[in-house]
Amino acid sequence: TSPDNGLEASDALRVLNRVFGYKSFREGQQEIIDHVVAGHDALVLMPTGGGKSLCYQIPALVREGVGVVVSPLIALMQDQVHALTALGVRAGFLNSTQDHDERRLVESAFLAGELDLLYLAPERLRVDSTLRLLDKGTISLFAIDEAHCVAQWGHDFRPDYLALSMLHERWPAVPRIALTATATEATHGEIASRLNLREARHFVASFDRPNIQYRIAPKNEPRRQLLKLLRTEHPGDAGIVYCLSRASVDKTAEFLVESGIPALPYHAGLDARTRAANQARFLREDGIVMVATIAFGMGIDKPDVRFVAHLDLPKSIEGYYQETGRAGRDGLPSTAWLAYGLQDVVQQRKMIDTSEGDDAHRRRLGAHLDAMLALCETVECRRVGLLAYFGQKSTACGNCDTCLTPAESWDGTIAAQKLLSTVVRLARERRQKFGAGQIIDILLGKKTPKVAQFDHHSLSVFGVGTELSELEWRGVVRQLLAQGLLGVEGDYGTLVLTEASAEVLSRRREVSLRREPERPARAAKTRRA
Ligand code: ADP
Ligand code: ZN
Repeated sequence: TSPDNGLEASDALRVLNRVFGYKSFREGQQEIIDHVVAGHDALVLMPTGGGKSLCYQIPALVREGVGVVVSPLIALMQDQVHALTALGVRAGFLNSTQDHDERRLVESAFLAGELDLLYLAPERLRVDSTLRLLDKGTISLFAIDEAHCVAQWGHDFRPDYLALSMLHERWPAVPRIALTATATEATHGEIASRLNLREARHFVASFDRPNIQYRIAPKNEPRRQLLKLLRTEHPGDAGIVYCLSRASVDKTAEFLVESGIPALPYHAGLDARTRAANQARFLREDGIVMVATIAFGMGIDKPDVRFVAHLDLPKSIEGYYQETGRAGRDGLPSTAWLAYGLQDVVQQRKMIDTSEGDDAHRRRLGAHLDAMLALCETVECRRVGLLAYFGQKSTACGNCDTCLTPAESWDGTIAAQKLLSTVVRLARERRQKFGAGQIIDILLGKKTPKVAQFDHHSLSVFGVGTELSELEWRGVVRQLLAQGLLGVEGDYGTLVLTEASAEVLSRRREVSLRREPERPARAAKTRRA
């Protein structure tokens, strides 16, 4: 329905101006707000930093009653309530950190109609007393933030989110708005069905973040490469460095501190106090570098994060996009830099092989990884590949490494044949398993003790690959793994043939490879323009 919505639209705009102090709506916000103000359900897919919060905060202020917001993160909830209170909005939250008295205060404010917004942790809605409390007040809308937490195979699954489908049954007349920055078609569908939002209108914002420069570099000496990036391009800037393991978070943070960069660690192995203190410093002080596992970041609203660096390969494009999206929320030029190497591919494949769940689950994880690898190895614009993954067509962006320094591809068929035939030779030694290192030593004709021990210098392939450097050979291995022309098995990363390898060995298939860049891409000239 489209009311002659002059009144509603101007109410919304007035709230935007007077309460939030912003001049105009961002792309998409007005439509969503009008839709919810009119009492309809909405599923909102908007990138991180796009401005999702106003999409439910403003309708909650315009409509009669209290807007109930379900949010998975206690820290985020508290930040939002503080920020709203500072703007004069009557907001409160109920979660497990409160004692009885604090909770009672919020409850009586709710009952007295003295709240505009009430934030709840999802588990609160499984408590009967909360439901009875909500029954006694007037609810203007339900907002379900970080709605992808309901997706069972997603990276942030929260079992308590599954119970949220009951909101519709218990309060059928109250409009619901679900919001997320995670966005493949499959995830939309899962959110809509699990939250009982089949009738909801979908609002899909553009996923492009033009101010973020995407760069993916081969990983050689990750910490040195990182340090160089920070010193040359981001001195004094705030940023996030993601590592896969807690141990590498600790080591990397230590390394940066020793190098004179104010870095702090963040991972689930630190006690809650340290985590909260580090997060608070990151948010409040200037120029802090947070070194973290992916446990850090959801809901972090820091506008001036200038770079997000990944020292390990993310498991999926969705995760990568979400993490890099924390850079540059203020719209100023920012960098998303990822270093990835052979070891990442080996490690991730192994994690998938040994992961829990059924084969279908493992296949899904494998498909996620393949898409991520394809993005890493592309010779096309990174942004085009990234947006295509989210179903958006675009043209070369001019602000990613492959646009700035076009990647060359070369005919790697012969190199691939040399490498694969070495794998074949070694596979004959059934009891012994060899990883990429041994194979590259053989190709380069290096008579290492291990080569001598197994008599590998007498193989016909010994020394046939001196036209490439060791680094280039590692690139070949990595890219063959990424293309599925080579497989990896077991604890030591033993290289094995795949079905597709045979096509290369029998010359039925050509192999195109991306040339390893000598130097990192230069920065865009527009930085800080
Ligand atoms: P998201 O939840 O989508 O990641 P937020 O709702 O936190 O994003 O908004 C990101 C930032 O953009 C916040 O600092 C917010 O105040 C600001 N913002 C949102 N909408 C507008 C607007 N219409 N005009 C100016 N700034 C806005
Ligand atoms: Zn580009």
